[in-house]
Amino acid sequence: MSIATRLNELRATLPDGVTLVAVSKFHPAERLMEAYRAGQRIFGESRPQEMAAKHAELPEDIQWHMIGHLQTNKVKLIAPFAARIDSVDSERLIDEIDRQALRCGRCIDILLEVHVADEQTKSGWDIDELRAYIAAGTLSGKTGIRVRGLMSIATNTDDERIIRRDFSRVQELFNEFKPLLGSDFDTLSLGMSDDWPLAVEYGSTAVRIGTAIFGAREY
Ligand SMILES: *Cc1c(COP(=O)(O)O)cnc(C)c1O
Repeated sequence: MSIATRLNELRATLPDGVTLVAVSKFHPAERLMEAYRAGQRIFGESRPQEMAAKHAELPEDIQWHMIGHLQTNKVKLIAPFAARIDSVDSERLIDEIDRQALRCGRCIDILLEVHVADEQTKSGWDIDELRAYIAAGTLSGKTGIRVRGLMSIATNTDDERIIRRDFSRVQELFNEFKPLLGSDFDTLSLGMSDDWPLAVEYGSTAVRIGTAIFGAREY
């Protein structure tokens, strides 16, 4: 099946109001262009150098989302153009994105990544630490960032109950934070190729789908 066919099938199935982030990490620019020609404009990448190189090569109107773990010393590579940083998991990273955005005269949309999965290896804020950070109110003084919502990755398992548990925790947290973070806080990014239909049940407004569009990645 072609990339265009897969994209069109996905779009036909996604409910209204759910944005599709096409996760193009590890795929060459030609594959992204196939998706672009099929109308896709939002792409997700996991490595800053790769995202910067693709940004330089591909059309201007693509919105680039950083979805992978981001080291503070790499923020400057993507700050000039990133449409959103979905994987923000520490106070240090927030401070650096704010600083680099202001240097570029920008305000960058971010999502706070929450850790709910069983695997300790996965990144993201510990829920209580994130609560404490938000309660401290430090975010309100930062004009280089706009906190748009939460992102999370469910446990990698075939057990649907565990995936539902993970998504439901993040949805509850989203509803808890929403009154504190205001009207910009409107995005809940849950769901990948294997679990996005469940994610939508738990209020996801932005699914991140790679394999189901581009096929398997060659690492
Ligand atoms: C790679 C990746 C995805 C896409 O995963 P697929 O299973 O290929 O759809 C989604 N979110 C994040 C954070 C990723 O790193």
